[in-house]
Amino acid sequence: MPGGCYYCGSSINLENDHVRAKSKGGVTTVVACAACNRSKGSKALSEWLRWLRENDSYRWGRIVLNQEKRNNRVSQIVRTILKKEV
Ligand SMILES: [Zn+2]
Repeated sequence: MPGGCYYCGSSINLENDHVRAKSKGGVTTVVACAACNRSKGSKALSEWLRWLRENDSYRWGRIVLNQEKRNNRVSQIVRTILKKEV
């Protein structure tokens, strides 16, 4: 995937992450770095991103920067979280 990790944009230790697309009732696979994959674990996407903001400001910052110019499920949730902060 161009741009590396789907979440933070890193190109180090990329793996496949299985994301459950609830609306579609299925599972899609995205490329994610090992650090994001391990951090996310079995958390739901929005749950993980909120968790990061509280517990891992380094990764949260990387993801916010990487998602700035994107438009996908991750960037949408990031924007929602950021709006609530203001
Ligand atoms: Zn990552």
